Amino acid sequence: MTKTARLEDRVVVVGGGLGGLAAACTLAARGHAVTLCDKNPWVGGKAAVLAEQGFRFDMGPTILTIPAVLKRIYAEAGRALEQHLDLVPLDPQWRSFFDDGTTLDLFADVGRMRSTLDAFAPGSGSGAGYARFMELSQRLHRLSDDYFFWRNVGGLKDMFDARRGFSVSILKEVLGMRPGRSVAGTVRSFVPDERAAQMLDHFTQYVGSSPEASPAVLCGIAHMQADEGVWYPRGGTAAVPRALASLAVDLGVDIRTRTPIRRIVVEGGRVRGVETAAGETIAAGAVVSNSDSVRTHRELVDGAARDRFLRRRRYEPACSGVVLYLGLDKRYEQLIHHNFVFSHDPHEEFEAIYHRGEPAPDPTCYVCAPAVTEPEVAIPGGEALYVLVHTPYLRPHHDWQKMFAPYRRRIIEKLESTAGMKDLERHIVFERALTPQDINDRYHVLDGAIYGLASHGKFLGAFKPANRSPDVEGLYLAGGSSHPGPGMPMVMMSGWIAADCLDRDGIVGRSAAAAPAAACSL
Ligand SMILES: Cc1cc2nc3c(=O)[nH]c(=O)nc-3n(C[C@H](O)[C@H](O)[C@H](O)COP(=O)(O)OP(=O)(O)OC[C@H]3O[C@@H](n4cnc5c(N)ncnc54)[C@H](O)[C@@H]3O)c2cc1C
Repeated sequence: MTKTARLEDRVVVVGGGLGGLAAACTLAARGHAVTLCDKNPWVGGKAAVLAEQGFRFDMGPTILTIPAVLKRIYAEAGRALEQHLDLVPLDPQWRSFFDDGTTLDLFADVGRMRSTLDAFAPGSGSGAGYARFMELSQRLHRLSDDYFFWRNVGGLKDMFDARRGFSVSILKEVLGMRPGRSVAGTVRSFVPDERAAQMLDHFTQYVGSSPEASPAVLCGIAHMQADEGVWYPRGGTAAVPRALASLAVDLGVDIRTRTPIRRIVVEGGRVRGVETAAGETIAAGAVVSNSDSVRTHRELVDGAARDRFLRRRRYEPACSGVVLYLGLDKRYEQLIHHNFVFSHDPHEEFEAIYHRGEPAPDPTCYVCAPAVTEPEVAIPGGEALYVLVHTPYLRPHHDWQKMFAPYRRRIIEKLESTAGMKDLERHIVFERALTPQDINDRYHVLDGAIYGLASHGKFLGAFKPANRSPDVEGLYLAGGSSHPGPGMPMVMMSGWIAADCLDRDGIVGRSAAAAPAAACSL
C-alpha cells in the first residue's frame, strides 16, 4: 500500500546543481518525498548552456571523468545510464601546447604514454618515471576508494573505522598517502621533464588549487582519469543535468526553479523546513543544501550552529576564472577536443593566482573545441571555442569591469602565440564571457570560487566539511564545497553520500508515493 508523505517527512534540496540533483534522485529512488528549489530559471547550476546565433557552449564543466558515479545514481533508480546518456570516449584525453612550441598528448594507456614521453623528452627518463608515477597514482586512487569515497568524511578520523582502533596497517595506509608532500614535489620526483611535469600538475586544477600547496594524495586523480577515461556526453555537458532532472521528475521530485531559499528553519536544533525569498515556508524534516557550504551557514542558518561551523576551520575558496565563449567562423586544426595552452613558468603562475591573489601575467588557458566531436555545436565549418583561465578568487580590490578587457586581450595573444591560433581575433563572429564576479553572482558561490573550497594544506588539504552536519540535526551538505570536493563526479558522489546518510539516519519517513511533480523548466 502506498502512503502519502507527511509534511514533516518531506526533504527539501536547496540548489539544483549536479550535487543537488544527484541527492534528489537518490532520495526519491529510495522512496522519499523531495522538493528541489533553485534560485535560477534552470537546473544544473554551473553546468549551464549558452545557445545563440548558431553556436552552443557548455558554460561550465566540459571534462567528464569517472562515469561510474553517474552509473551508481542511475542504478539507485534501477535504470541503466547508457539508455539515458550517450557518452563518447575521448583519447587522447588532452593536448598540451608549451611555450617552446612543442605539443604533448595525454593518452589513457600508460604504456603508450610512456613511449610518447620517451620520444618527447629522450634520455630524461620521463617515460619510465611516468610509469612509476602512475603506479603511485593507482595506489592513491585505491586508498581514496577504500577510505575517502562513498562515505561521510569531515576529517582524518572519519576515514577509519573507529571500532577497529588504530592499527599498524592503518598507520601504513596513512603514510602511503604521503602526508606532508605536495603534488608538484611528488610529480617532479618521478618525472624530470619540466613540461611533462607541468602537464601532470594540472590535475589539481580540477580542484582549483595550487599543486605546490595541495597534498600528494591528489596525485590519485591521474589514475582515476586514466582508468575510467574522459567522456563527452553527446549534446554537451548540459545533457547530464538534463538527464538527471528528467530522472528526478520521473521519480516524483517536485522541482521549483526561480525559487531562492532565504532561511533554513531550525527549531530546537532540528531542521523543520525552509523559507523561500517570497515568504513561503516549506515544511520538511530534513534539508540537503547544495548551496556553497560556507554561505549556507553564513546566510541560511542562525546562531550557535552557524558559529560552530564557521569556527571549525579556515575556509579558503578555490580559484575563480574568466571564461570566453567564442563563436568562430573557422576551426583550428591543431586543436583536439580538450587542450591546455601552458604558461611559460608554472611557479610564477601559481604564485600569482594562489598567493598574491592577482591574475597570472602569463596564464595557462584551457581550450575546449567541441566541434571536433560534435560539429553541430557551431555554424558549418566553425567552432564553439571555450576558453577558461583560472584566476584568484575575488578580492575586495578586484574590479572585473575594468580588469576584463586587458585580460581578455592577454588571453587572445597567448592563444595566438603559444597555440599558433593565428588571427584568432579576426575569426570571432560571436562572443560572450563570464568574469569571477559573474560566476559569483550567477551561482551564489564563495567569492567567485569555481570549485568550492581550496585543497590547500599538505596534511589535511583534501578534507572538506562533512556531508552530515554535526551542527544541525537534519541538515546535510552536497556539492563542491563539501566532501569529497569539486568536479562533476565528486559533487554527484557528494549528493549520493548526503542522501545515503539522510536515508540511513531515518529521521524522515519514506513514502512510496511522493507528491505529484510540479511543472519543471529544465
Ligand atoms: C567555468 C567552469 C569550468 C569547470 N570545468 C569543469 C570540468 O571540466 N570538469 C569538472 O568535473 N568540473 C568542472 N567545473 C566544476 C563543476 O562545474 C562543479 O564542481 C560542479 O558543477 C558544482 O556542482 P554543485 O553541485 O556543487 O553546484 P553548483 O553548480 O554550484 O549549483 C549550486 C546551485 O545552488 C543554487 N543555489 C545556491 N544558493 C541557493 C539558495 N539560497 N536558494 C536556491 N538555490 C540556491 C545555485 O543557483 C546553483 O544552481 C567547472 C566549473 C566552472 C564554473
